[in-house]
Amino acid sequence: MNKNSSNIMALAPTTSNRRETVCIFGTGDFGRALGHKMIQSGYPVVFGSRSTQTSSLIPKGAEVLSHTEAAQKAAVIIIAIQRQHYNFLTPLTEILHGKVLVDVSNNLKINEYPESNAEYLAQLVPGAKVVKAFNTVSAWALQSGTLDASRQVFVCGDDMEAKQTVMNIVRALGLTPLDQGSLLAAQEIENYPLQLFPMWKFPILLSFGLAAFFFFYCLIRNVIYPYVYENKDFSFFIAISIPNRICPILALVLLALVYLPGVLAAIIQLYRGTKYRRFPDWLDKWMLCRKQLGLVALAFASLHVLYTLVIPIRSFVRWRTSSQIISQVLNNKTEPLNTTNAWLSDSYLALGILGFFLFVLLGITSLPSVSNNVNWREFRFVQSKLGYLTLILCTAHTLVYGGKRFLSSSSYRWYLPNAYMLSLVVPCMVLVVKFVLIFPCLDKPLTRIRQGWERNPQYSE
Ligand code: NAP
Repeated sequence: MNKNSSNIMALAPTTSNRRETVCIFGTGDFGRALGHKMIQSGYPVVFGSRSTQTSSLIPKGAEVLSHTEAAQKAAVIIIAIQRQHYNFLTPLTEILHGKVLVDVSNNLKINEYPESNAEYLAQLVPGAKVVKAFNTVSAWALQSGTLDASRQVFVCGDDMEAKQTVMNIVRALGLTPLDQGSLLAAQEIENYPLQLFPMWKFPILLSFGLAAFFFFYCLIRNVIYPYVYENKDFSFFIAISIPNRICPILALVLLALVYLPGVLAAIIQLYRGTKYRRFPDWLDKWMLCRKQLGLVALAFASLHVLYTLVIPIRSFVRWRTSSQIISQVLNNKTEPLNTTNAWLSDSYLALGILGFFLFVLLGITSLPSVSNNVNWREFRFVQSKLGYLTLILCTAHTLVYGGKRFLSSSSYRWYLPNAYMLSLVVPCMVLVVKFVLIFPCLDKPLTRIRQGWERNPQYSE
């Protein structure tokens, strides 16, 4: 047999490729969009509707019948109807007996009903095999084909065979089924599309809070203080100088807050002598949003880089440089090069550049497309070892920035230290505790605890 004929054989439809008819109750937006996608994927589709008149909106090739007639034609019935109308299914209980009912519904509020919509459907039609699926996919994405961000379809149900049938349909539509277990998981799956950036809430609120605090702090020190004592108007600092102080501070503090919960968890485990007791809720939640905290920190670090790049073209900076030159000319005196200052300034910049480079590397490795391609050890190496190195470099960058002025009494205004000094408190604390935890007398028991050893075992043999 030649090569071409074998290709033709492979492309020719076989009886085993023929798809089973799927019934969709409801000719609304979602029912039509799903029907359209199913027909494209080779499924014969029959709609069950209150009105059997077909309209131009119904996907070409689909039949529209009464609910009873449509249900008799398929083993899988997708209920594309709002939960509050499910009552109409009760008289159909006999026809729906043994059929796979797919619940695609969502609610308007989280935990709107005591039981999930899928469990409610299972109670209404006791003989049917209810499976929850498709609720996280939007009608618009199905219709327009823009499913890149929402290819995953959460599936759950009590009947394994019914769940497999639905998962096969999901795959045939070019989507990825994710088995979430029994119908008990339906409530969580239904709440999922109603959540608004759950992991981002804490990092964003925290950065807003810190940004507001440091903004007023810098405003008092750098604008109000010179105005009161020297009658100088530095209000234009609000545009670039103050943001360029706040951004690195937030980047450093938030980066330190990514590593602080790990250090606290280690102390708790050492104190308890076991890893088998749950951490307090606040620590669990904090640990879960570390990636988001790190990404917000990276955003502030990137802003700091941009603000720093425009410094030479700022009118105030050009004025200050030219007036220094003019004063040297007038006094006929050239300032000699201060090597210590040159060292401090170059080291400060070098530490900042290296710190930012590693920061970007950390951000890139946290992207799912990258993290999925590295193994657990590689991921831990980047996020933990390189993460701490980033924290060390950024902390050193801030310390060297202070240079000789660091802790000098002249830098206090109204007893307030420079804002960058405050930003060093959390990172230094994290680094010192982490350093102490590396000592073998603490590291060894901690490693054993993390491998399952307990100081006072709960269940002795
Ligand atoms: P829709 O446009 O309002 O359509 C609902 C359909 O339900 C109607 O077209 C109607 O179909 C049927 N219906 C209405 N009242 C009924 C009643 N009293 N008795 C029997 N059938 C009735 O809603 P949809 O946007 O398609 O949403 C349908 C389901 O899919 C909902 O549970 C929704 O949560 C879920 N969902 C929607 C989307 C989305 O993007 N739209 C995404 C995920 C999940 P007939 O006129 O043909 O009877």
